Amino acid sequence: MLYTRSSQLFAEAEKVIPGGVNSPVRAFRAVGGTPIFVKSAKGAYLYDEDGNRLIDYINSWGPMILGHAYEPVVQAVIEKAKLGTSFGMPTELETQIAALAVSMVPNIDKIRFVNSGTEACMSAVRLARGFTNKDKIIKFAGCYHGHSDSFLIQAGSGAITFGSPNSPGVTAGTAKDTLLAKYNDLENVAELIDANKNEIAAIIVEPVAGNMGCIPPNSGFLEGLRQLCTDNGILLIFDEVMTGFRLAAGGVQELFNINADIVCFGKVIGGGLPVGAFAARSEIMNYLAPLGPVYQAGTLSGNPLAMAAGLAMLKALDADRAIFQRLEEKTAYLAAGMEKVLKANNVVFTINRIGSMVSVHFDADPVVDFQTAAKGDNETFKKFFHGLLQEGIYIAPSAYETWFITDALSYEDLDFTIQAVDKVSKTF
Ligand SMILES: *Cc1c(COP(=O)(O)O)cnc(C)c1O
Repeated sequence: MLYTRSSQLFAEAEKVIPGGVNSPVRAFRAVGGTPIFVKSAKGAYLYDEDGNRLIDYINSWGPMILGHAYEPVVQAVIEKAKLGTSFGMPTELETQIAALAVSMVPNIDKIRFVNSGTEACMSAVRLARGFTNKDKIIKFAGCYHGHSDSFLIQAGSGAITFGSPNSPGVTAGTAKDTLLAKYNDLENVAELIDANKNEIAAIIVEPVAGNMGCIPPNSGFLEGLRQLCTDNGILLIFDEVMTGFRLAAGGVQELFNINADIVCFGKVIGGGLPVGAFAARSEIMNYLAPLGPVYQAGTLSGNPLAMAAGLAMLKALDADRAIFQRLEEKTAYLAAGMEKVLKANNVVFTINRIGSMVSVHFDADPVVDFQTAAKGDNETFKKFFHGLLQEGIYIAPSAYETWFITDALSYEDLDFTIQAVDKVSKTF
């Protein structure tokens, strides 16, 4: 496959956009080469500017759980656009999507919509601090909660891909209020709580980590966090920006039957438009302005196009709950197929999977936290990435990302992918 036009477009982009991209993970810095410029997408496929068709395993980093250009979402956006694209006034649509989200997710009474996952997590932490009247938070190394200052302390995703977990521009004053714990290590969390008695407002966690590859919680980890929070007057924030409406209709809270105090959403909830949200029981949400003292706002929050897309997406998922089982089966099939061919080709690897999230790590040891994720062989990953790209398969250009399986993928697509993995891994 040739990427001549993409390369030209990237050269043009670099002149006027830093690094040629509006979000660092889109650049191919970790794998080399130039990013692919997409022209359109439908179902499981991307069509790039050179006329190549690629099977897409990124899916806009998660939102397109039903495939690209999903008809009900597209129609909803078109119809709404004709009626005006933004008002800065309440619309009935906002109540409709809020009511549906609250009905699908356990343990939340109210939800507020914002424009990104970053905003959702940032606002959730402010709310937790306001509600508890405490300043510090605990986050886990390798977890990513967007790019706001408090979270760029050993963050996952692009922040580790580029080896700068602590970004310049984050002040020491801000950084000192973010305490860092090891994922899947309860003892470490308990020690931090002991050392900072009555100072911790919240623990924020990806309840299934997806930004250092896919790392499911060890048995008892989330239960243990819940207990520590309850015992110490700390709010537990589940960042379900990636897992919400993906691993189950009610996200990880439903999947593992654990109640968080505040839940953050993004990605799927917007149906491919820029949407985030955070939700909790009324007692906590009523602390937000205009009811309460914690300020949070947005000119385009609850934007009608975004809400129309999100509502159409949530309705589709709500009406067809079997989708989560279908996605699980497709992902298990893909993982088992890749495992078989990688083994046959004597590749050293670990595959992590839960529901429709899966990641391939080129290391023999279990991948359970940031340290073990970082051990993977990046040179092999580069060959894997570019090899698959030549076969017409698009995975994230970083070893620290999860693959997202969509309902639009057919078993033919999955078989084609497994054959490509076989072919590529013979060249390692
Ligand atoms: C993507 C992501 C975010 C950030 O969302 P943006 O919409 O990119 O700001 C936050 N948390 C998690 C778990 C994510 O995967």
